[in-house]
Formats: sequence, C-alpha cells, structure tokens
Amino acid sequence: MAGGIIIFMSTSRALHGVIGAGGFAHGPIWTLPIAGGASAEHPSPRLDTAQADALAALAQARAQLEALAAGRRGAGDELAAEIFASQALMAADPTLIAAVQGAAEAGRTAVEALYFAGEEQAAIFAAIPDEYLAARAADVRDVAGRAVRIITGATTPLPTAPSILVADDLPPSIGAEIPRELLLGIALRGGSRTAHAVILARAAGIPCIVATAGLAIDGSLDGTPAALDGASGTLHLSPNATTIERLRAEAGEAQASATRRAGLRGAPCVLKSGERVHLLANIGSADDAVRAVAVGAEGVGLLRTEFLLLERSTPPSEAEQVTAFRAIFAALGAERPLTLRLADIGGDKEVPYLRIPHEANPFLGVRGYRLAMLSGRADLRALFASQISAGLLAAAAAKARLRVMAPMVAVRAEVDDLLALVATVRADLAQRGAAGDAAAAAAATYALHLGVMIEVPAAALTVATLARGLDFVSIGTNDLTQYVMAADRVNPALAPLQDATAPGVVALLKAIVAGAAEAGVEVGVCGELAGSAVGAKLLTDLGIRELSMDPAVIDEVREALIGA
Ligand code: PEP
Ligand code: MG
Repeated sequence: MAGGIIIFMSTSRALHGVIGAGGFAHGPIWTLPIAGGASAEHPSPRLDTAQADALAALAQARAQLEALAAGRRGAGDELAAEIFASQALMAADPTLIAAVQGAAEAGRTAVEALYFAGEEQAAIFAAIPDEYLAARAADVRDVAGRAVRIITGATTPLPTAPSILVADDLPPSIGAEIPRELLLGIALRGGSRTAHAVILARAAGIPCIVATAGLAIDGSLDGTPAALDGASGTLHLSPNATTIERLRAEAGEAQASATRRAGLRGAPCVLKSGERVHLLANIGSADDAVRAVAVGAEGVGLLRTEFLLLERSTPPSEAEQVTAFRAIFAALGAERPLTLRLADIGGDKEVPYLRIPHEANPFLGVRGYRLAMLSGRADLRALFASQISAGLLAAAAAKARLRVMAPMVAVRAEVDDLLALVATVRADLAQRGAAGDAAAAAAATYALHLGVMIEVPAAALTVATLARGLDFVSIGTNDLTQYVMAADRVNPALAPLQDATAPGVVALLKAIVAGAAEAGVEVGVCGELAGSAVGAKLLTDLGIRELSMDPAVIDEVREALIGA
C-alpha cells in the first residue's frame, strides 16, 4: 500500500536528449553498471606478466568479436556483422597494442594497462572533428572493456526484467549481448547519433536517445517507471497515464508512415512526368553501405574517403585502402556504383599527421583537390594517386562500378591536372602489370567514370568548359551555399544564411544544370539539399535526376518524389 502511494505521488519529470532512434517504450529503468577499470584484485605483479596478460586478453577479445560477427553474419544481420568485424580489427590495431604495452611498461597491471590504453585511444577518436569518427571512441572503449572482463572474469551485466537501459554510453558489443526482449529502450547521458550501439538500436527498432541532459547514471533511477519517446528525444520519468497514451498513439502513427515508406523500397522513383530519379546514398564506412542497400539506395553518390585518413597516425597504404573499398563493393554488389570522393581534407577536417600548415581562413585555403595540385607536396599528391589506384584495384577485383570525383575544384586547370593524375596512376598500374602483377594489369585499364564536385561558385558558373571530357559533376550544396552566401557553414550564428534554397544559390544550381548539358556530362547532387523532401523537389524541378543523401532519409525522399 505504502509503495503504491509513493508511485502515485512521485512527480513526473521529462529529460531531453538528442534523437537516436524513433519509437516508444514504456517500462522501468535499469542502469548499466559502470565498467570497473583498474582493479586491485587482479594485479599482474611483474611487468612481463602484465604485458603478456593484457595482450592475451586483447587477442581473446578479438576472437570473441570475430565470433560475434560470424554469428550475426550467419543470421543474415550484415550491419551488426560489419560492426563487430571492425571492432575485431580494432583489437588487433598496432596503435592500441602499443598503447597497452606502453601502459604496462609504465608499471600498470594488465587490467589498468587495458583500461588506460582504451581510454587514451578513445580520447583520440573523440577529438576528431567528424561526428561519425568521433563516435568510434565507444567502440575502442568496448574492445578494451571486453579484454578487461576476460581477465577479471566479469560477465556482461543483464537486466532481470524488460527495461529501459540508462547509461553514460553503451558499448556496442554489450548492447548486442543483452537479449532483445529485455531491452525496451535506451537513454544515454553521452553517446552520439552515429555510435554503433545507436545504429544497431535503430536497425533493431529499439527507441533510443543520446546526450540526455541531467540523466542520472548512478543507479538512483533504477525501477523508476518511464516512457521513452525516441521521436522527440524525451525520457519521461514517472509519466501519468495521459502522457503514456498520447506518446503511444503518436508512435503508432510514426510507425505506420515508416512502414508505408519502407513498402516503396522496391519501387522505382518515377515523377509524375514519367521520368526516373535515381536515389543514391552518402556514406562514410562499410556499415553505412549496408544501411544504404537495406533502404533501397541505387548506389553510393558520395563516399567520404576521409574515414580512411582521419583515425590514424600515418597515411593508409594502398593495400589497406583496397581492403576498405572491397568491403564497400561487397555490400553494394556489382550493379550499384560507388562514387569515391578523393580526400577532402582541410576546412574543418584536420589530419594532424599530414602536417598541413595552419591557415587563417582554412575554408578558403589549400583544401580538397588543391592539396594534390597547389600544395606542391609530392607526399600529398601520392596520397591522392593511391586513392585512385586503390579504387581501380578494388573495382577491378570486384568487377564493380567505380566513379571517382575530386572535391573543391574551381578552375579548368585543376580538371586537367586530375585527368593527368589518373593517366599517371593507370601508367603505374600498367607498369606493375608488366612486371607480373595481374591485379594491377587488370586495374590499369578498368572502367572509371571521372567527375568533379561543383561547390565553388567559379566552377558553378563555368561548368560547360570546366567539365568537358569528364563523365559527371556532383553538386556539393553544403559548400556551395557557404561560398555563395559568404556564411561559414559551421558558424551557428549564420544559420539563416546557410540556406541552399536561397535565390542566389538556386540561380547557380540552374547555371550548373545548363553548363552540364552543354558539356554533355551527367549532373547529380550530393549536398544536404538532396536529403529533404522540399530540397529534392526543388532539384528535380531543375531537371536533376540523381540525388545522393544520408541513407536515413532515402525512404522519406522517395515517397515525396514518387508521382510529384
Ligand atoms: C558538400 O559540400 O555539399 C558536400 C557534399 O561535401 P561535404 O559536406 O563533405 O563538404
Ligand atoms: Mg563539400
């Protein structure tokens, strides 16, 4: 009786976060216990023992993650399989291993060494100014935490009844080990929309919110009845019956429209005029490619290759890039094209090991393709060349469709330079082929569609001559808007000016379409404008028939365009 009164009298409270995955859940809260890091109960007194124990645990963690990946692949869950396979690779990453060795050499126990190395690597990821890559911090922490549990013998903590999980962050492999029926929803105090645990929650239809302000993660909320509204990013504590019913009804409607949109995935996107529009995806990893295919993307219109450059201390080798591109081709299959954008470093994307000098105005500086041509640095040119040769090698091996495009091109001389660079890459591959490398021989002559991004006003106004001899141009409306409106794209104070539908931007879009027709090249859009119903309609009205966007919005854009 007394307990009933307490529940009745408890005050409702709403905590607000960022939407991770839509949907509604209602149930008690369960707090994920905070993983213990350094534990005095498991000392490895001698240095060599600490090091050996830590490395053995890391190897075992890798084997467990590989098994988890294989299990998911066997169950047809490619997305989860990709995620756990990439975590298994993290467990074998020389940088992490060196950090563990260094921590052990500094006198730490095996458990401490793993914990500190994991935190050190996580901090490096978290500092990357790219949301997706920064979110990899949770992955490496998860890998180190798994190795720690192997040493301490701790098991994955589990709720005893179906609950809404509350935590600072959710390690993806722990999330995967909690039975689906026990996980009603997820509310994280930290986390990120692009964290793997959140991506997996979205795929599994588990409502989830991240960056929840004021969320207690010390266990004090355990057992509190709660309603999680994924669509608005709100966690209601001790909600009343009216709130619960309203949220349930709204979630039902949202689910109905999601199901209706998903039902259109097999249908071609055809306008009222009968013309076909191609919907492609913007991706930054192999698991994005899996998501893209799942929502019916017809290919990849933008692969942000920076993901291969940002999370390391030295440039990737050609072989590493081939492996990464092959994983993406494997997800896409032979029919869907992959548009590989050459490194778009500079601006707000920094890569410390490339030692690019500090500039007063980096968005107006030596960024994108300018690094290959204007920087005068052979190492940077070689990096761009290695991206092209890796693309050709991967595409030739997979017999897949490859497109390559250069970012931040302003004048014809840069296009001529790009054509020359591709010719040099082909000549080098042919030479390797002549020396007996059969893969290089096949890559040397493999088909490649070449293009440039149009995101600088000077390029937009001169597409007719700039793009001659290319196969396509792809409009980057994010940068184009920033440069046309003279409004820094990362400055929130200028948000009203960062409008790709502003008349000044639309005038340039028209000029690009006309220029592309004159040059006889295809034109597509891979900037954010393509990813909204309003933007997609505007672009198709201008005659653009290829739109590339985040896989998460493809369903919505398809529905808006069909019959429009
Ligand atoms: C763009 O500028 O529109 C674009 C797609 O490239 P990014 O956002 O990566 O600069
Ligand atoms: Mg851009």
